[in-house]
Amino acid sequence: MLTGKNAVVTGSTSGIGLAIARGLAQQGANVMINGLGNPQENEAIRASIQADFDVQVLFSAANMLKSDEIAGMIAKAEQAFGSVDILVNNAGIQFVSPVEDFPEDKWDAIIAINLTAAFHSTKAVIPGMKQRGWGRIINTASAHALVASPFKSAYVAAKHGIAGLTKTVALELAEFGTTVNAIAPGYVWTPLVEKQVADTAKARGITEEQVKQDVMLKAQPTKKFVTVDEVAAVAVFLCSDGAASITGTTLPVEGGWTAQ
Ligand code: NAD
Repeated sequence: MLTGKNAVVTGSTSGIGLAIARGLAQQGANVMINGLGNPQENEAIRASIQADFDVQVLFSAANMLKSDEIAGMIAKAEQAFGSVDILVNNAGIQFVSPVEDFPEDKWDAIIAINLTAAFHSTKAVIPGMKQRGWGRIINTASAHALVASPFKSAYVAAKHGIAGLTKTVALELAEFGTTVNAIAPGYVWTPLVEKQVADTAKARGITEEQVKQDVMLKAQPTKKFVTVDEVAAVAVFLCSDGAASITGTTLPVEGGWTAQ
């Protein structure tokens, strides 16, 4: 379905981003993956996607905290592939703390990585998408783009912000064959969620098992964690021709959380 298309997926060496990168590659797209961490592990991830799906896969170590590195990542992909047709703004971090104790540097980093990075990458891909008259921009938002939870002030603010950015850019690109949507997953069992269990237990004064059962799964009527493959399947659908009239949405993939 996506043969001949080229994608950039930020934060794709782990979790949801990795599943989306694999999902796009499975449909025939070339993909530039991105993330921090161990270079050997990142190279192994890159090589395995390339081998599994027989598409071109590149790696960018661009840090989503840095606007020049983000612009450089898009330029590198355009140069290597000839175009960036699909952009998935997925990199994200979390920090859990009451707002009065929330460290300023954590606030700044969450806003930068979870929101501002998407502005920089989106800005960089738009001229090419407008020129070619086809594009797909997908932002990984969160159920926290639609509702709040205590102790996640920066994350909830950034995710509500990405929903607003999604709507605005969708309107600007509506006549250029380019859709812009956000996906709003509920709790997905990834390293990002695993890491916040202990801090949430501390902030709420409960055990880690209670965090999983009484905070995370309680939010989701299905009582199940969402899977990375379920989120990837929605991203692939949004890239299809059948989704050409879906734009400006924040699509919940959260087991009914925000229906309550
Ligand atoms: P994860 O921790 O498994 O993966 C995060 C990825 O982002 C990694 O590849 C990491 O290297 C990369 N990354 C982090 N900081 C970066 C930086 N400064 N520059 C470049 N890359 C960076 O997390 P995940 O759970 O897969 O989360 C991915 C996205 O999904 C995030 O935007 C997150 O907010 C969102 N999300 C996650 C859940 C969940 O329950 N896991 C729910 C809703 C939304």
